[in-house]
Amino acid sequence: MKAMVLEKIKTPLVMKEVDKPAPKADEVLIRVKACGVCRTDLHLVDGELEEYKLPIIPGHQVVGVIEEVGDKVLKWKVGDRVGVPWLGGTCGTCEFCRKGQENLCDEIVFTGATRNGGYAEYVTAKEGYILPIPDRYNDVDAAPLLCAGLIGYRTLRKAGDAKKIGFYGFGSAAHLLIQAAVKEGKEIYVFTRPGDGEGQAFAKSLGATWAGGSDTLPPEKLDAALIFAPVGSLYLEALKAVKKGVQVISAGIHMSDIPSFPYSLLWGERAMTSVANLTRDDGKAFMELANKHPIHAKTTVYPLEKANEALHAIRDGSLEGSLVLQVS
Ligand SMILES: [Zn+2]
Ligand SMILES: [Zn+2]
Repeated sequence: MKAMVLEKIKTPLVMKEVDKPAPKADEVLIRVKACGVCRTDLHLVDGELEEYKLPIIPGHQVVGVIEEVGDKVLKWKVGDRVGVPWLGGTCGTCEFCRKGQENLCDEIVFTGATRNGGYAEYVTAKEGYILPIPDRYNDVDAAPLLCAGLIGYRTLRKAGDAKKIGFYGFGSAAHLLIQAAVKEGKEIYVFTRPGDGEGQAFAKSLGATWAGGSDTLPPEKLDAALIFAPVGSLYLEALKAVKKGVQVISAGIHMSDIPSFPYSLLWGERAMTSVANLTRDDGKAFMELANKHPIHAKTTVYPLEKANEALHAIRDGSLEGSLVLQVS
């Protein structure tokens, strides 16, 4: 099969012919239709992730059709259309798994980082970790739901019953999540790069109550702030924008260093926290929500062999919405 392979950190992916993988007893073989490109893939290439193996085929927002099932697979059959997210496996026995925090599992497996992902014509996945794709989405539009949507959703849930919520960074995750949040009656205040009028207009078109630069304050104090851009200093801007006693939550797997800051910004029981990965329950809940309420991804599509260009576009920040590789 054809695959885009990362052989060495900080080098471009290489298009290669590799063996088509064979599913183990508890796995399925999926013919990849589309695979979303995530900022995490860029962090992987840049050597900014803590856990990965090389060589690796990236890609953890995979939509495809099951072509073969392992001997022990019960839940899925050949022909099912499924999605493969970032969470590729957990141990089930560590203290985190036992507490219902499998997103923090000590033996966690990541699709496209510690096991091969969807920048390829085929991928295998464990049957318990794949998700059904609602019929209302085509392959390309479904792909960004599998990480940007899912992990964004976990971040929104962590904000609890907060009503006025700040989104710092308005890329793939935020543009999907705002649609779900507005339907739930939330007021979303969007912060883009300073001077990004187009991004602010895009946010308003998707239902933002207010949009401005990340260096400005919102018209009202916020009940929570979610950070989607990998920029550590945004924690400080967000702390200035929120009420006492509420959280600033980063959804990213990596960000630049957080500059030192006066304690007075944190005082008042404000909290800085992060969201890591997802659980299978997050996946199920979000796909059900996406089935009930349509979430429209604004996508730019690249062929598989142009994966490096897609990654470059994410680095650039020049495209609105989500980037997707169309594989077949
Ligand atoms: Zn575990
Ligand atoms: Zn991702």
